Amino acid sequence: MRAQVIDRSGDQQFMRLALALAAEGAAMGEVPVGAVLVQHGQVIGQGFNRPISDSDPSAHAEMVAIRAAARAASNYRLPGSTLYVTLEPCSMCAGLIVHSRIARVVYGALEPKAGVVQSQGQFFTQGFLNHRVLYEGGVLAQECGQILSEFFMARRARG
Ligand SMILES: [Zn+2]
Repeated sequence: MRAQVIDRSGDQQFMRLALALAAEGAAMGEVPVGAVLVQHGQVIGQGFNRPISDSDPSAHAEMVAIRAAARAASNYRLPGSTLYVTLEPCSMCAGLIVHSRIARVVYGALEPKAGVVQSQGQFFTQGFLNHRVLYEGGVLAQECGQILSEFFMARRARG
């Protein structure tokens, strides 16, 4: 088997950018999740969770970032790219990641209820998928989880 060399050098930097995007979402009253799509070391798409603002249940951070990246690249597939997202992806986004031919997904905090990368099954290891996605969780997990818990605490305090 060919050894796959993974470049992790930018992981923290790009996750910090995703965190900043999550904070933008929080300021708009959206559950703070941010995502950044990187190809050849360049950010080609970014976004944050915004279903309320957009009246769009599919407007998860990953969806917003991937759509922007595909448009920027004029390509419906994004080979060799890495998606950074502050929260473990849900089933909708995991499917989208495979359709987009993204090479690698890096996420921060776990999503115990709806995450499908490791919390609720292991989506990317399923045999019927025609594209293998590398994945890795726990990058800046504490910060990524904290922005969410602070958001929900503030929301509860407001009543
Ligand atoms: Zn999602």
